[in-house]
Amino acid sequence: MKHPGSSRIPFSAWQALALYVFAATAPLLIAALAEARERDFAAELAVGAGLVALAMLLLQFISSGRYERISGGAGIDRTLRFHQLAAYALSGLVLLHPLLLALPSEPGELGRLPAGLVMLAGAPMLRSGVLALAGLAILVALGILRAHIALRYETWRGTHVLLALGVAVASLHHAMSVGQYSNGMVLRFYWMLLAMCALASTGYVYLFKPLRLARTAWRVKSNRPAGEATRELLLQPESGSALDYAAGQFIWVSFGHRPFPLNDHPYSLASSPREGPELRLLIKARGDFSGNAAAIAPGTPAYVDGPHGDFVIAGHDADAIALIAGGIGIAPIAGILRDLQLSGDHRPVRLLYGARNLERMAGREMIDGVAGSLDLNVEYVLEAPPPGWQGGAGSITPEAVLRTLRGTDPQRCLCMLCGPTDMMLAAEDALLRAGVPAANIVYERFDYA
Ligand SMILES: Cc1cc2nc3c(=O)[nH]c(=O)nc-3n(C[C@H](O)[C@H](O)[C@H](O)COP(=O)(O)OP(=O)(O)OC[C@H]3O[C@@H](n4cnc5c(N)ncnc54)[C@H](O)[C@@H]3O)c2cc1C
Repeated sequence: MKHPGSSRIPFSAWQALALYVFAATAPLLIAALAEARERDFAAELAVGAGLVALAMLLLQFISSGRYERISGGAGIDRTLRFHQLAAYALSGLVLLHPLLLALPSEPGELGRLPAGLVMLAGAPMLRSGVLALAGLAILVALGILRAHIALRYETWRGTHVLLALGVAVASLHHAMSVGQYSNGMVLRFYWMLLAMCALASTGYVYLFKPLRLARTAWRVKSNRPAGEATRELLLQPESGSALDYAAGQFIWVSFGHRPFPLNDHPYSLASSPREGPELRLLIKARGDFSGNAAAIAPGTPAYVDGPHGDFVIAGHDADAIALIAGGIGIAPIAGILRDLQLSGDHRPVRLLYGARNLERMAGREMIDGVAGSLDLNVEYVLEAPPPGWQGGAGSITPEAVLRTLRGTDPQRCLCMLCGPTDMMLAAEDALLRAGVPAANIVYERFDYA
């Protein structure tokens, strides 16, 4: 599956990855060019692992910053996944660092490894390194466990940033105080450069961006139920200036008197920019924020960071459009449908929309409203259909997905998917088997975990 917005970005995701690999391994190059040390291979390997781990750690502050352009159009979901995988990789290198340093030179003396590790852990000059390792272990453990323990997303995110800053400071101190290569001018300069980039990225996300958002406030115009457990919010700009977005994109939004980055949440725009400057959101109750969305009173200030994402039609040359929505995945698809209607698109549009029950099916009025002016064919599927239901029953099956392609040339059909990850994977599989090119399958994930 592809993020179509990649064409708008001056470099590709592969080039961004190559740049990342270069930045992460540059300390090895710098060390290799430094005066040779007389150390054994394991010690050199240990130092190399430590150098790359430190560079990767500092680069983590950039990959978590939601900078779409820096990722070369890979998309925020993939960038954040990359951030997670890089965290595991750098943790492996960090573990390797003391293990290799404590490794006895003779294979027969392997039993002395634990004692060697204890000695390293107790050495006063290595205290910052031990602290960094402990902090990193907590960071990674919380990242893995947060979905399984009762930890609020906002608490986790705040803890994550503070701990990450602490680990970065301790790691830099460790490298500068005991690292032999890091004593050299060039590597010292490189660490300063990466540390400044990390700090600038954190400052941008947590200071500069909130200040900028506070200047362009929005207000909640209305808040009404849109089916069971879902609210429809309309936001209007205070200053009259509209958001320049494409149907299907999403924003990070927070409500209240001040924009506080830990409180923002990603929500798809269920409106089309052709409708006017107002933004429509469909918020399904899921946790502490969304579960209280009904309490957001009209008039409440809102702070809009966006638009983000590439779940858009632009950039695709297609003769037909298949839209597949599961549950609240209808939100961006509702915006796309409105946009297709308002732009007078004449292409065949097929919509497959599955939900738990009729009450949970948000946006049906809107779909009925656009049906008359589009070449639209809709199939609704309910897990728990009411008596006398004429639509499909059960979940979105690969057969139902394939029905959306009927009467179209699969090679020329753009398929847009938004819903539970398992549903999207199964649908993607079916579409690929039916001959839809991978580049014409576009998706939006609502969960980055
Ligand atoms: C690109 C995108 C578009 C989305 N569009 C919609 C939409 O149109 N309608 C809708 O109902 N939902 C949408 N979501 C999901 C929505 O953002 C989460 O359900 C919501 O943030 C849950 O917050 P909570 O505090 O109520 O729940 P919690 O119980 O705190 O969180 C539930 C889960 O939601 C995720 N989450 C929570 N807060 C955030 C955050 N600030 N940033 C990223 N993930 C978070 C985490 O995985 C968390 O485990 C979208 C998500 C993404 C990534």
